[in-house]
Amino acid sequence: MSKSTYINGKWEESASGLSREVINPATGEVIAEVGYGGAAEATSAVAAAYDAFPAWKSLTVYKRAGYLSGIAAVIRENLEELSKILTSEVGKTLPEAMGEMNAAADQFEWYAEEVKRSAGDVIPNRLDDKRHMTIRHPVGPVAAISPWNFPILLSSRKIAPALAAGCTVINRPASQAPLTMIRVVELTEALDLPPGVLNLVVGHPGECSDVFIGDERIKKISFTGSLDVGRSLAVECTKRMKKISLELGGHSPFLFLPDVPVEEAAEAAVFAKYRNMGQVCISASRFFVHNSMKKAFEEEVVKRVSILRIGNGLAPESDVGPLFEEKRVQDSLNFVEDIRQKGGKILWGGKKPEGQKYEKGYFFEPTVVTDITDDMAILQEEPFSPIMPIIGYDAIDEAIAMANNTPYGLAAYVKTNNLKWTIECAEKLEAGIIGINDCSPAAAQCPFGGMKKSGTGREGWKQGLESYYETKYISIGF
Ligand code: NAD
Repeated sequence: MSKSTYINGKWEESASGLSREVINPATGEVIAEVGYGGAAEATSAVAAAYDAFPAWKSLTVYKRAGYLSGIAAVIRENLEELSKILTSEVGKTLPEAMGEMNAAADQFEWYAEEVKRSAGDVIPNRLDDKRHMTIRHPVGPVAAISPWNFPILLSSRKIAPALAAGCTVINRPASQAPLTMIRVVELTEALDLPPGVLNLVVGHPGECSDVFIGDERIKKISFTGSLDVGRSLAVECTKRMKKISLELGGHSPFLFLPDVPVEEAAEAAVFAKYRNMGQVCISASRFFVHNSMKKAFEEEVVKRVSILRIGNGLAPESDVGPLFEEKRVQDSLNFVEDIRQKGGKILWGGKKPEGQKYEKGYFFEPTVVTDITDDMAILQEEPFSPIMPIIGYDAIDEAIAMANNTPYGLAAYVKTNNLKWTIECAEKLEAGIIGINDCSPAAAQCPFGGMKKSGTGREGWKQGLESYYETKYISIGF
């Protein structure tokens, strides 16, 4: 059993002796058995993060930035090894895994620089005998809870700004996919971060979060995951007046406006849908296509999807990998069955691929569906599936209204070269991230987060750092 809990600069055995298997989604094989902690490990990690906080926050930002740059370098130097681990535990193709690892390194690099410019203010005084200023104060030890679909990037989006601001951190990654994070922490040991500054607990979600929320020594929870879990953690935090930031689900619309050549539109749609097989919080999941081009769009999309090669993400010839777990396959089958029963049409895919090489893994065919109606589950729930539902429209305002008809507001995409429509869509679409002719808008130096039920606050950009600070206002009377 491999060690998975890193507290106060040391790897610990699980106190209960429990372990969890990590499964390769492409083969169904167990690739590791890792220690599985709970309340005991979470409590030790809280103590370590609390004890390390005073010294860490007192370091100059230049010293903290030095550690962050070191973490970025460690990730980049070990990119290939880390990316292979990531593909083996999550299923995404190797180029996608490398993209994620680089994006994680970007977080550490960006915040190493940004923190040097995060100054307080000197505020002009109204009265002669007073002077006013603000300084930044780190919120304190933070618990960072992250999901499986981008296990390194999403943990890094929390760890990097928190450490930069002077907070100490406990990361609890999803226990089904902890291996890449374990390896990153192992590699960062060479940097001699002070013990307790960065802690890792792989363990029971409810037990750990109960400790993090209930213990007064943790000052903030930063959560990325589903709406339901986020909401329940937020309720518990609110009862205790504990800060929480939430990055939750999405159901992102993609609007194809009538000026766009249909081949270009189809190319963008296929890229937007099948990255990480639709298991991306900002995945486009509702495709609104002008009725003048809908038929041709469907044909062009199917032409492209039909030649996508499905396989183990480690194989260079694979264009798309497996889904993450059996439940994702079952959910996808259920969506397709629901579409079929309610009169929708399956244009491509809709089932597990056939053949010996697909027997053991969690494979599903990239799927294209049309004749979609509002009552179908694919429009009602966040799909997290490789299914592209195509919906026709006549007027742009009608498409915008349908796009906004969801409780979520994480991302929205538009394909157009018309300036007026660009501005109209950017202004009217209810989403925190708008990609105009850009299907992968996330970047460390830009704000990431949602409107409506997709979350509170933003990660990335300066806002990502702000959320780990308290503003202290100092008024000096002469
Ligand atoms: P999830 O909510 O099931 O799990 C997220 C994290 O919370 C994991 O670490 C999990 O172990 C933990 N968790 C689960 N149940 C818990 C509980 N009862 N108490 C405390 N912790 C608990 O989500 P998931 O299936 O891992 O990830 C997919 C979801 O995450 C999707 O909804 C997706 O849109 C969302 N997501 C959002 C973003 C974003 O930045 N907005 C990014 C990626 C994923």
